[in-house]
Amino acid sequence: MMPGNWEGSRRQSELPDDWAERKQFVWERDHGLCQWPMNLDTYLVHDPAQFTLDNLERCGQPARDVDHIQHGNNHDVDNLQLLCGWHHDRKSSAEGNAAKTAKRGTNRLCKHPGLL
Ligand SMILES: [Zn+2]
Repeated sequence: MMPGNWEGSRRQSELPDDWAERKQFVWERDHGLCQWPMNLDTYLVHDPAQFTLDNLERCGQPARDVDHIQHGNNHDVDNLQLLCGWHHDRKSSAEGNAAKTAKRGTNRLCKHPGLL
């Protein structure tokens, strides 16, 4: 198990001094649109570097947030993308649940077996 990197209070201070400029760059580069790859459901469990993201179909909805493609302290613009609120929330919860999901292993479907 990895030691926790979730020091929320420190995270803000780890952003680079030119963070605002980087965000501005990303907003312009991505045209203010969500960059989530629609034809790649398994995006989160793969190394994004393996893909040529330009070849992927994007969500294209108006973006809400600048997202770190790979979680961590890499604030390079190459590691930043725009996401709409829906995809950012989805990705954030997926990252937060990744560890739990990995060891849960069982699907708890709330579906009555006799209900057809
Ligand atoms: Zn989206």
